[in-house]
Amino acid sequence: MPTHTTSRDAFKPPHCPNPDCLFHLESTAWRFKRAGFYHREARPHRIQRYRCSHCRRAFSSQTFSPTYWLRRPDLLEPVFRAEVAGSGHRQIARQFGVVHATIQRLVDRLGRHCLLLHELSRKKARAQLAHEPLIMDGLGTFAGGQYWPLELTGLIGAASYYSHDFVVTERRRGGTMTELQKKRRAAYEQKLGRPDPKALTRDVLELLRTNLPAAVPIELHTDEKSEYRTALKRLHHPELAHETTHSKAPRTAKNPLFAINAHHMFVRHSGANHKRETVAFSKRIQAVIHRHAIFQVWRNLVKAASERQPEKGTPAQRLGITRVRWSIGRVLKARLFPTRIEIPERVRQSYRGAFMSRFMRRERVHGLRRAY
Ligand SMILES: [Zn+2]
Repeated sequence: MPTHTTSRDAFKPPHCPNPDCLFHLESTAWRFKRAGFYHREARPHRIQRYRCSHCRRAFSSQTFSPTYWLRRPDLLEPVFRAEVAGSGHRQIARQFGVVHATIQRLVDRLGRHCLLLHELSRKKARAQLAHEPLIMDGLGTFAGGQYWPLELTGLIGAASYYSHDFVVTERRRGGTMTELQKKRRAAYEQKLGRPDPKALTRDVLELLRTNLPAAVPIELHTDEKSEYRTALKRLHHPELAHETTHSKAPRTAKNPLFAINAHHMFVRHSGANHKRETVAFSKRIQAVIHRHAIFQVWRNLVKAASERQPEKGTPAQRLGITRVRWSIGRVLKARLFPTRIEIPERVRQSYRGAFMSRFMRRERVHGLRRAY
């Protein structure tokens, strides 16, 4: 586990954890003092404490661990593994002998951590954008039940398979419905409102704006969805070549959308919440976002791009932004502070858990300072 030891040489606080302190962003000439130890139930039992000489904030070596303030720090890495191995949260809870809410909290924390970790690579990934065609496509899923469909739109490198970003959009339930289902939909919509029909265009535009640098030539492949066309018109990207493939075209390796079709198949395979006809579906939109953030980090940094040719590296290696394959331990090595990372507004909202599900009665925005 990536918990810090209390040995004097092993750990040096990298910066002041207090966001209001002068030495939060920049630690040159920062001074702190050791301030004894505290004992906790989990291993290692003895934790070194410190105090910032500038703002006087007390902290410990644990303050810089992603397991900070967790009662079961030992579960963070196993839960990450279970999460990307296609287990449902209740299954995971049974496996570790804890209640479902504990797993939910750990997964939310992992989700927030992974949102930030992904942002750390954004600049490097952007610099490589022009070197391969990009593919954008949506995966249909839902949260809270079949009446609340979602579209998870991803943007992926065609050769590297690197996932640059994703947006999750509420959709209106469509398709074939029985009379009873139509009545229920109408009742829900009357009570809870209807998802904005323009939301997909808006979210796709946001996805493209965040990810496509204006001065770089881009080749973008999508299917023929009208929302994509509208978003691209509004984007006004002077150097963007848009190629479309019919969504009914055979989904073979020759299909220009192959990388994202494979990616989405893999999403369904690895995340219990996206399996068809499952009871393990996400109960909240925010949970879909967190879980996909975890999946994205794992897919980009940890998992080989090709199952058959693992020697060809992870998507991040193929894109040229990391040199080696990361372990999950490395992913979870250090706590990341949202106050120290440049984050697009949408991601900041995801981090705060601001994507409310209209069908949930009580949902909390993440405002807990200690549990970050
Ligand atoms: Zn300080």
